Amino acid sequence: MTTAAAAATVGDRTVALPGGAFVQGCWTPAPIPVTDPEDGAVVGYAAQTTVDEVSGAIGHLAASLRNEWPTWERERALGRAAAAIADRYEKFTTLIAAEGIKTVAEARDEVARCVETLRLAASASGELLGESLPFDATPRGAGKIGWYVREPLGVVGAITPYNDPLNLVAHKVAPTLLAGNGVILKPSEHTPLTALAFAEVLLEAGVPRDRIAVVCGGTDVGQAIVSDPRIAVVSFTGGPRTAESITRTAGVKKLLMELGGNNPTVVCEDADLELAADAVVDGAFGAAGQNCLSVQRVYVHAQAYDRFLDYVVTRTKRKRVGSKRAADSDIGPLVNERAAREVEHLVDRAVGDGARALSGARRHGVFYEPTVLVEVPEGSEVLTAEIFGPVVAVEPFISYAAVVASANTAGQALHAGVFTASVATAKTLSQQLHAGCVLVNATSDFRIDAMPFGGFGLTGIGREGVRHAVRELSAPKSVVLAE
Ligand code: NAD
Repeated sequence: MTTAAAAATVGDRTVALPGGAFVQGCWTPAPIPVTDPEDGAVVGYAAQTTVDEVSGAIGHLAASLRNEWPTWERERALGRAAAAIADRYEKFTTLIAAEGIKTVAEARDEVARCVETLRLAASASGELLGESLPFDATPRGAGKIGWYVREPLGVVGAITPYNDPLNLVAHKVAPTLLAGNGVILKPSEHTPLTALAFAEVLLEAGVPRDRIAVVCGGTDVGQAIVSDPRIAVVSFTGGPRTAESITRTAGVKKLLMELGGNNPTVVCEDADLELAADAVVDGAFGAAGQNCLSVQRVYVHAQAYDRFLDYVVTRTKRKRVGSKRAADSDIGPLVNERAAREVEHLVDRAVGDGARALSGARRHGVFYEPTVLVEVPEGSEVLTAEIFGPVVAVEPFISYAAVVASANTAGQALHAGVFTASVATAKTLSQQLHAGCVLVNATSDFRIDAMPFGGFGLTGIGREGVRHAVRELSAPKSVVLAE
């Protein structure tokens, strides 16, 4: 296999990249083509890291944890990295839009989010503060004093998906480093180039070369990380099937998991229906539905149902599906044709079982038209599973008790939305909907990077959101002084 230059070519622009992986403090060659999901064009090259290289990288990181890297230097490095990403705004936008699924406008938003994430991480060291121990809480504590501090956990294996190739990588790596750990990152095999450019920024900003490794490849590389006993924590963001596989091979180690959801939005009879329709259409079809916070089920009070549906369908039909690079495209491609065929299959099956499509329901290669479904039969995967495509089901409800039951039991929600003008309804539904976050007069598709982020049940384990991740990635160590 020949070794290609480490660069990504996007349109008439060449973006220099440092190498195809970063292992044991060195960049490795980049022989494996990375393609644009839209047209299959080669946009750059990455490595195919071997299982032996993964093992070597983990050993190197584990040994390096003995080297001191004080907190103030970690903060300084992450702050510099935030500034460097902001300076390279166009480069990162170009990379995300080339190897990923986002339109240029969506890619820009992600770069801005990543700057925020790094800035938040650079100022999160307060989460590492300890406390004095309350020895006078028990007679057995008499005569003792002591305290605890928060210690790093060790080498963290960070595994990330394709749909947010920069900001989700930042959410894994920055809190891990701030807490004093080492990190081996495996980005999605679909989007390694953005992660490699991100690692280059971190190194230039002052992250020691022996605190981070970036390995590239698919399942075998992920499994080599997960199964290694020297890994203290697997921090995974991805799909539920992969999560299952990780739990089977990880052995006894901490697992942090950010998984998918089938997110409901409830639109009440007193809601601002145009506001709700705008938000639902953006939340359902942004990133072509490839978003863990995507709106997938909308329950609308029967009194508002017809008007709301009319608003949603009108707005959906205005959305333009097309090339990520075209300024007037609203919805880009799915990650590959297999994923687009899966969405097609789910929609066709729902329609075969009695659902009606009021828009879309058509595939063009890797593109899928935004699809509004009604009368979806109970038990359909559209209502129970995560579709990860531009499809939303809308159905009427009459009683609040019934809508809460449907929203909570049909599928698992990472976030849930409620539209209402009533404080009392907002209060009741926010208490009763089972989700990591309930948003009032917004859909599931919103977070800021400082919020605790994650869900209950099969939507994940633990919380991200920078400060919360720093706590998950550190643990108290107590010191007790006897007389
Ligand atoms: P995926 O699960 O297919 O892949 C995610 C990562 O896991 C990739 O890097 C992949 O190579 C790796 N991987 C695959 N098999 C593995 C194995 N057996 N062991 C170890 N690693 C393995 O997910 P995807 O298709 O890239 O992303 C889509 C999913 O991610 C959706 O379900 C979405 O909801 C979820 N997601 C969740 C969040 C969140 O924060 N909750 C954010 C974005 C995406």
